[in-house]
Amino acid sequence: MGFCFNADDCIGCRACEIACKNENQTPSGINWRKVKKISSELFLSISCNHCENPECFRVCPQRAFTKRRDGIVEIEQSLCDGCQLCVTSCPYNAPQFDPETHKVSKCQMCYPRQDAGLLPTCVEACTTNALSIVNLDKFNNPDIVSSLPGFPDIQITRPSIVFFPQKIRKRYFLF
Ligand code: SF4
Ligand code: SF4
Repeated sequence: MGFCFNADDCIGCRACEIACKNENQTPSGINWRKVKKISSELFLSISCNHCENPECFRVCPQRAFTKRRDGIVEIEQSLCDGCQLCVTSCPYNAPQFDPETHKVSKCQMCYPRQDAGLLPTCVEACTTNALSIVNLDKFNNPDIVSSLPGFPDIQITRPSIVFFPQKIRKRYFLF
């Protein structure tokens, strides 16, 4: 299971980011999903990518991370001792350290919602259907790409996300 982000459809409205914050009641300054403006027309909506080779899992001395059979990389906060090795090792800036609780949290791909047959809240909230989840083992579309400008190197952790790039548009000028 992984995310699919259609850069051609994202309008940067941040509905996904806000829905994530509401659903997970994350504290001020901690956003599990972030919408970034890469250029005047390109936005990226990024969270934890539930990588195939998760660096967070590899470096955590407390074994706080697990990878479920469906691919979701989960963090058990009660095991976290706040060393922040995962924060510095993740190429996507996904694990978020809370100085109040001295613990790290991150996107859990809404696994309680998915276990109940619901979509992740970011996917459900997306106003243009730019964000979806797909079975990456079966999803095959000739137009998908594995990275976009502004997305960190995919070689290290093999993130579970695919992209539809922006289409080249014809532009018409009156003058
Ligand atoms: S994006 Fe970062 S936190 Fe998420 S699974 Fe990959 S390495 Fe771990
Ligand atoms: S901050 Fe917590 S979750 Fe991250 S590596 Fe340290 S113990 Fe593990």
